[in-house]
Amino acid sequence: MTSGVRLLVLGKQGAGKGTQAVRIARHYGVPHISTGDMFRAAAAARTQFGLKAKEFMKRGELVPDDIVIGVVAERLAKDDAVDDGFVLDGFPRTRMQAEELQRLLGPGGLDAAVDIDVPTDVVLRRLSGRRVCRTCGATYHVEKPPKVDWLCDRDGGDVVQREDDKPEAIGRRLELYEQETGPLLDFYEGLGLLVIVDGVGELDDVFNRILDAVETVRQFRLSAPRGQR
Ligand code: ADP
Repeated sequence: MTSGVRLLVLGKQGAGKGTQAVRIARHYGVPHISTGDMFRAAAAARTQFGLKAKEFMKRGELVPDDIVIGVVAERLAKDDAVDDGFVLDGFPRTRMQAEELQRLLGPGGLDAAVDIDVPTDVVLRRLSGRRVCRTCGATYHVEKPPKVDWLCDRDGGDVVQREDDKPEAIGRRLELYEQETGPLLDFYEGLGLLVIVDGVGELDDVFNRILDAVETVRQFRLSAPRGQR
């Protein structure tokens, strides 16, 4: 297995961020840390924090920075992330989160910030047709439904539309992306960490583009003298 990496994945909602982040994490043998998944799990478990997060998520609003940062800091402190690395998915989403992450990791603590670039009209089509399994989170599209009656091919769970994939919430999420998360591209570019990958096309092709880009960055870092990393 290839040795670990410390990456984060950026991209508009519907850019394929989650799917690709899972694959990259598996490839490098590091944990996939998705703030959206953590919040949904907490909401399903009906913890106090989960129920609070759910209120924001349902409307397509961002969960407040202090809550998100606390959750991520706790997760990054676990042995697997410390020893092997991680793929962060859905974090950071605001300038404050990005700055806090830099503080948590220290200089040289991140190998790359990968932006999966997809035009807005494409993500709108993907999101409005997206359906997910209520139990395992597997995703489908109205044009590519499960084999039987909207029951998940994997575990038979109900396949439904996420509350935040309804039209009003989609609009709000993309607007927030533009305002809050888009500017992070400049932030990471300034740190020399930004890698932009074309996210249009087959999943496998996009995945290979990401791997190529990440490997290029890693080789460069491994060969650079320590002071320049
Ligand atoms: P998407 O990228 O498709 O919106 P996610 O699963 O990443 O989906 O996130 C779902 C929701 O969880 C977001 O709309 C937001 O309410 C909340 N959330 C996830 N990550 C963050 C974050 N870093 N900061 C604030 N809110 C977040």
